[in-house]
Parts: sequence; C-alpha cells; structure tokens
Amino acid sequence: MTEDQTPQADGFADLGLRPELLRALTGLGYEEPTPIQREAIPPLMAGRDLLGQAATGTGKTAAFALPILERVHPGVGGGAPEPVALVLVPTRELAVQVSEAIYKYGRELKAEVLPIYGGQPIGRQLQVLKRGVHVVVATPGRAIDHINRGTLPLDAVELVVLDEADEMLDMGFADEIEAILQATPDNRQTVLFSATMPPRINNIAKRHLTDPVRIEIGRASTEPGEAPLVRQSAYLVARSHKAAALGRILDVEAPAAAIVFCRTRNEVDDLTETLNGRGYRSEALHGGMDQEQRDRVMGRLRSGTADLLVATDVAARGLDVEHLTHVVNYDVPSAAEAYVHRIGRVGRAGREGVAITLAEPRERRLLANIERLTRQKLTIEKVPTVADLRARQMELTIDQVREALQADDLDRFRVVIDALADEFELTDIALATVKLVHQASGATDDDEEIPDIPVRNDRDRPQRGTDHSGSYKGGDRGGSSGPRSKPERGGPGGQSQARRGPQGDVSRLYVGVGRGDKVRPQDLVGAIAGETRLSGGDIGAIRIFDRFALVEIPTDAVEDVIEAMRNTTIRGKKAAIRRDRDDA
Ligand code: AMP
Repeated sequence: MTEDQTPQADGFADLGLRPELLRALTGLGYEEPTPIQREAIPPLMAGRDLLGQAATGTGKTAAFALPILERVHPGVGGGAPEPVALVLVPTRELAVQVSEAIYKYGRELKAEVLPIYGGQPIGRQLQVLKRGVHVVVATPGRAIDHINRGTLPLDAVELVVLDEADEMLDMGFADEIEAILQATPDNRQTVLFSATMPPRINNIAKRHLTDPVRIEIGRASTEPGEAPLVRQSAYLVARSHKAAALGRILDVEAPAAAIVFCRTRNEVDDLTETLNGRGYRSEALHGGMDQEQRDRVMGRLRSGTADLLVATDVAARGLDVEHLTHVVNYDVPSAAEAYVHRIGRVGRAGREGVAITLAEPRERRLLANIERLTRQKLTIEKVPTVADLRARQMELTIDQVREALQADDLDRFRVVIDALADEFELTDIALATVKLVHQASGATDDDEEIPDIPVRNDRDRPQRGTDHSGSYKGGDRGGSSGPRSKPERGGPGGQSQARRGPQGDVSRLYVGVGRGDKVRPQDLVGAIAGETRLSGGDIGAIRIFDRFALVEIPTDAVEDVIEAMRNTTIRGKKAAIRRDRDDA
C-alpha cells in the first residue's frame, strides 16, 4: 500500500466546507468527494448558477446539498426561519430521499428540512412551514399548491435546485416549474441537474440560469484498448436484496481472490460482516484504518488466508494484488472513470479477469455511461436462482472429488471403506462421503429466491421530450378531485385525459387501498413512480373502487413493482399489492 492515509473526509475539507459538515461526512463514512461533488461544490459555494448532466448514483445530491447547508444559519435573526433553498424533484420518493440526505449532512447544524409532496396531508406540512424551516424539498405540484395558498414563503430563497429536471418535464411539470421560478427572487442562484439534456431542458436553462457553470459527468471517452479486456457483467438488484444477491453471485463465481468495492466506510464494514456470516473469509479495508492494520489485511489476502477484500476506492488506491480474479462493484461507481480504474486490477498479464457490477434499477443510466467509456457492452445477467446455485455447488463438489481421486494419498483411508463394505453398498458409501465433502465445502443453505428485475431496453420507453400533450400531468396536484361516485379512469385530471400509458404487454395490479382511504390516481402514480423504475408515463389506466384500486402497468415490471411496493404506504396506509386475479 503506497497511498496516503485518509482517516478524515479530507478531500471535502479542500473544498472549503464548514467543520460541521465535514464531521457529518466523516461520520457517514465518505472518504472523498465524487467527481461531480469536486466539480460542483466550489462554484456553487461561490454563488454561480450551474447546469449539470449527471444521473442518480453520481453523488449529485450532496453536490447541491452541501452548498445549500453552507447557507443555513440556525438561530440567526430570531423568529421562525424562512427557507433559504428550494429543491424541486419529480417524485415523492425522491423528495423524501433528498430531504433525508440534507438532514443527515446538516444534522450538526440543526438544519430543518421539509419534504412536501402530494398524497401527504397538507395540514401537517402547513404546521411545519409555519414553525419555519431552512430547506424545502418539494414536488412541483404540491409546491404550487402552497405558493397559491401563500403558505410557502419564498422571499428568503437564495438557491433553487431543479433535480432530475428531465423527469419533471416528462411528468408534465413544465408550467409548474416556470411558475415556481417566477415566484422566487430574481437574484437567486439556480441549479439544474438532469440525466439527459434535450432541447426543452436547454431552453429552461437559457431562460432561468445566468452564465451557468456546465458540468457533465460520465461523458468522457477513452482510447480503444485503454480499458482492459475483462468479462464484464452487471446485475440489476433492488437495494434490499443486494447483500443476498452478492453472496449468491460469489457462490456461483467461486472467485479465487476478489475485491469488492463499496461507496462508504460504513458499507464496507456491514458487507464484510454479512459475507463472513455466509462463510467467506473477507477482510475490510478502508481509509479509517492505520497502515499496520492495512498491511495485515493485505498480507492475509496475499497468503490466501482471506479470499475477499471489501474496500473503498480510497483504501484500494495503489493496491497491487497479483492474483486477483474478480473485481466486484457493490455499487455502480459514481464516475465511469472510477470503473475503468477499478477493473484495471484484474485481467492483467493475459489472465482472465471478471468484473461484476451490482446496480439498482435507478442506476441503469450509469451502466450506459460505463459502456460508452469502455466501448464494451456490459452483459446484464440474471441473479442466479436457487437451482443455479445448487447446480453450481454440485459442480464444485465434483471438481473437488475428482481432484482427490487424482491424488495418490488415498490408501490410508481404505480402512474406512473396509470397515463399512460388509454393511453397505459401495455406491452408498461414496454418496455419504460426497455429502460430507459437499457440506464441509461450506455450501450454504440458501433457499430464498431473489426477485429478478426484468431488463428493459431504453428504446422500449416512451420517447423523452416529445409529445407531452398527452403526458401525465401533475403527479401530486393537491386535493382538488374530491370523492367521486364512479371508478376513476385515466389521468388524475379527469376521465377524459389521454395519457401516454404503458407500451407493449400490460398487466393489472390489485392495490388494497381505495376511495375509502381517500386514495386518488395521483397517489398511486406517485407511489409507483417513486418506488420503482417506472415513470408516470409507464402507468396505464387506474380504476379506484371503495376498498381497492386496479392499476395497469407493463407486464415485465409486475414482479419489480410488487416487490418494491411491499413496504410502501399509500396515503399513510400499508396496502396489499398483487397481480389482479381477473388479469391472470
Ligand atoms: P446520489 O447520486 O446523490 O443519489 O448518491 C448516490 C449514493 O452515493 C448515495 O447513497 C450517497 O449516500 C452516496 N455518496 C454520495 N457522495 C458520496 C461520497 N463522496 N462518498 C461515498 N458515498 C457517497
């Protein structure tokens, strides 16, 4: 190991962040800024507008959250604080996620952050807004609702962030965004992040951003041949199944020596523990360890006493392990360049190397960036099933037995066979022996299937930035519809509103909440779009009855949606969700 020690979030200190934030980042196990953070934070702290092309997973939330928190000064001025920043996001899930992130980073500052989105009782939001908050994270529809009621004070807003702007436009929020920007002070700072940059986004940027700094993450390209030739696969896995999926994949791959990359120090520690519980001999390596500890870990990997190294990028820098066979990205690296760097550790000197990447559905875009940079296709594989695992474990046992048969030291075990031969058939003796070998090799009793997330081609998705006349309008328009006597059909705006709807095969889901729970179509769209990779436009007809609702979604997303919605509440109620019986 040659690299410098990085026990603190030093890279962040270089960006000039205040000590309260640095301590929070260290506590979260962040070791260094991601590329987007390194590029975006300084200009944002200097007051510049910013136009950033970056997908989820690049660390863009902290890129705008930290500069926002630099402007929060609790207790100054007395009285109820007014928001200094307004973050607009497309879905309620993102509103909650971004609020949580800002809260986490700003914990020591006692920053008050409020997510506001449709589907949540407005009364509670009103109460908190009255008490005063420093940052509001809102979906556009609900933000407009509050602005119209005069309950969202915007005079003190210094910074407005449009996060996932392309998604917001896709969901039909263009007018709301215009109106909200009009309602904020002219001298505000404006930040726009978008995964894609269609002309409509550029138009918004032209009208509302002043001389913005432009940042593009994951668009660079390398010379052909620069990326090592390695078998590269990716698996799409829901966050909740990642650890189990990795265990399963490693069992099947049976690497001789692997390094597993995680984003944070805390993730390194958790995953090491999980893998050890699964029978691996894994060692954690992160920037919080001193040189002696790291040397010890490396020694164990080199000598074969450990077979897995779980590490952060910082800790693994400069690390040279001769016999690595596998590099695993437990998270998609926040920049495609980091991916190339990581997988450069295998496939050296003509040996075959394997690179495995686990991606959450929302991170698929990052995979595309990597493909562009490496000019190689990432094969999306299915997480091995229980049957795959069993078959592979048998193969490994066959290999082991074959190897033992080829050794010439078997004679001393003949007494065991002789002792049993009168009583049992030779085949039965062999079977019992194989069973013992199989069990002793640590074959795990893993019998729970990991739900597969169907791979969808982006070309199957409705085109972005075109024909929004029929697109889903207002995923969170607040409280205007009221109870209806008939089942509701189509978009939240009324029965006749044409929606883009799903393309290809469509299935119907039964959702166990209905009109009696005050559920409206936009609550269902918001919940599904917020929790899954579907967007509003992928969701078809919605019919709401007294006690339940039926929602049409693309057939290939059914399992994914059911799994993702299992622990979600809709209008505060946990709803059973399954394939509709009549649909089958
Ligand atoms: P985002 O792209 O903002 O959704 O962030 C993706 C993930 O990366 C989140 O889980 C963050 O907690 C994590 N993350 C963001 N910045 C860093 C960093 N500098 N080091 C490690 N993890 C980070």
